Amino acid sequence: MRRPGELAASLAALERRLVVACAAANRDRAELTLVAVSKTFPAADVAELAGLGLRDFGESRDQEAAPKAAELAGLALRWHFVGRLQTNKCPSVASYADVVHSVDRPRLARALGRGARRAERRVEVLVQVSLDGDPGRGGVEPSQLPALAALVAGEGGLRLRGLMAVAPPAQQPEAAFARLAGLAGRLRAEHPQAGWISAGMSVDLEAAIAHGATHVRVGTALLGGRPRVVR
Ligand SMILES: *Cc1c(COP(=O)(O)O)cnc(C)c1O
Repeated sequence: MRRPGELAASLAALERRLVVACAAANRDRAELTLVAVSKTFPAADVAELAGLGLRDFGESRDQEAAPKAAELAGLALRWHFVGRLQTNKCPSVASYADVVHSVDRPRLARALGRGARRAERRVEVLVQVSLDGDPGRGGVEPSQLPALAALVAGEGGLRLRGLMAVAPPAQQPEAAFARLAGLAGRLRAEHPQAGWISAGMSVDLEAAIAHGATHVRVGTALLGGRPRVVR
């Protein structure tokens, strides 16, 4: 199949999965944002998906995301930065990202805030939480979440919107996302504007939707397999 037909077919199949998962969880599909994770795929694929109605795209490396966002600036897309982030990339990321899902330490929050203020932009932030204490995957320890969330909420140029997590491979996604939902409820009690939950990828989006995800980040199920794991 040619690429446009292939993308249209996989988007239709994914949309059916989202509708079924929302119905099973007694939720409205309109509450859920699909973030198409376009890392490793060309700008032409993003443009094709934009033509099919998608607006939210996720990237995980600044070197790749910055030129893609610049090339597609005319399409008025919303760019989500979902990967591990270094402080030295924050000025660049703050210049095009609408949402950063992976803020997990104070230094990063401050650098991103500085970048956003310099670019005269407002960046929406999700604090990434670790659900298993493995530093390799990133994420703040739940015990340090309240302090980091307060720092983000008070940082000019940033707007605290909620939490993000990746289900640890050694856990049942159901258990991981249930724990995330508990943390999100406590965060929202402190910060009413921070109700977003970014959880669920190609393999576990049903479990995430069952546990209140407002944003699913889907790459493979939409765009196909990637040549290698890129974060
Ligand atoms: C790559 C990536 C995704 C998409 O994963 P798929 O399994 O391809 O759907 C989601 N979230 C993050 C943080 C990623 O790096």
